[in-house]
Amino acid sequence: MYKKYIEFLSDADIPFCENEPCSKHTSFRIGGPCDLFVTPEDANSLRDAYVEARRAGLSTYILGKGSNVLFSDDGYSGVIISTERLSDVSVDGNVLTADAGASFTHIAAVARDAGLSGLEFAYGIPGSVGGAVFMNAGAYGGQVSDCLESSTAFDPLSGHIIRTEGSDHLFGYRTSVYKKNPERAILSASFELKPGNKEDIRAYMEDIMGRRRDKQPLEFPSAGSVFKRPEGHFVGQMVEELGLKGYAIGGAQVSEKHAGFIINRGGATADDVLRLIDHIKATVYAAYGVVLECEVISVK
Ligand SMILES: Cc1cc2nc3c(=O)[nH]c(=O)nc-3n(C[C@H](O)[C@H](O)[C@H](O)COP(=O)(O)OP(=O)(O)OC[C@H]3O[C@@H](n4cnc5c(N)ncnc54)[C@H](O)[C@@H]3O)c2cc1C
Repeated sequence: MYKKYIEFLSDADIPFCENEPCSKHTSFRIGGPCDLFVTPEDANSLRDAYVEARRAGLSTYILGKGSNVLFSDDGYSGVIISTERLSDVSVDGNVLTADAGASFTHIAAVARDAGLSGLEFAYGIPGSVGGAVFMNAGAYGGQVSDCLESSTAFDPLSGHIIRTEGSDHLFGYRTSVYKKNPERAILSASFELKPGNKEDIRAYMEDIMGRRRDKQPLEFPSAGSVFKRPEGHFVGQMVEELGLKGYAIGGAQVSEKHAGFIINRGGATADDVLRLIDHIKATVYAAYGVVLECEVISVK
């Protein structure tokens, strides 16, 4: 089934690996092998690899830094197209433009060094630019929607590159137009920033990083906050009040440091994590009548 596609990738000089463990490409360090893991070096080869895989009838998944996904223990039957090699960043006046695979934390540092303010909140979010736009990532009072000017994405349905601006991104809490059209592969994003004082920006970013280190279990693999924040409640507080801090199923454990995180304390399987998620959801619902919704995306 993959023979022709592999021939295409080889002829087109697009790097790939067969039977690549998803666990190597996710911050949870969980997930079985995928059939093919493709790492295009530029937007054109990403588009070609994507179009050709779909033409061959193969399942496809676009992956950024894997910091918000949980792949199954069986892995992924299909082609994962990673943006990891698409990492250019440039600054023109007040606008910072980055390829989808650029690190979100790195672009915050580039903005700081250029004396531009607006991306401080991104510092310490361990995702890619594409993943951050897809999720409308945010922290400490800031989010992508506050400063995203435009993005470009390849739409395999029309075969065109689509440019989306401002409110057309349909941003909401941890959602965007891309979440509603997951077949689109984000290629780049431009952020409109404001001139700021470099030292003030640096100090604020360091403060944010310090708060992350104090509150989050950064020493363990995880995918950050597992659940979205429900209206009028704090997940961590409810989980803690129910005595679930430290509760574990297999290698998956509710973090002792931050009850909103599930950590892989060693050898956790996706099944352990999913069972722990179900247990937390059921316990919270029974006690508070609150339905928890996952922020982490489970991929089968
Ligand atoms: C320790 C830790 C702390 C975190 N803190 C925060 C936080 O403060 N705030 C926050 O919002 N999140 C946080 N997260 C979660 C995560 O880092 C963000 O959601 C991040 O934006 C995900 O980016 P990614 O590149 O890792 O996306 P991935 O996990 O690779 O993918 C997430 C989704 O985006 C899609 N996607 C990725 N790239 C593209 C693309 N180029 N085109 C189309 N679709 C794409 C994927 O298909 C998938 O559906 C944290 C995670 C960890 C592990």
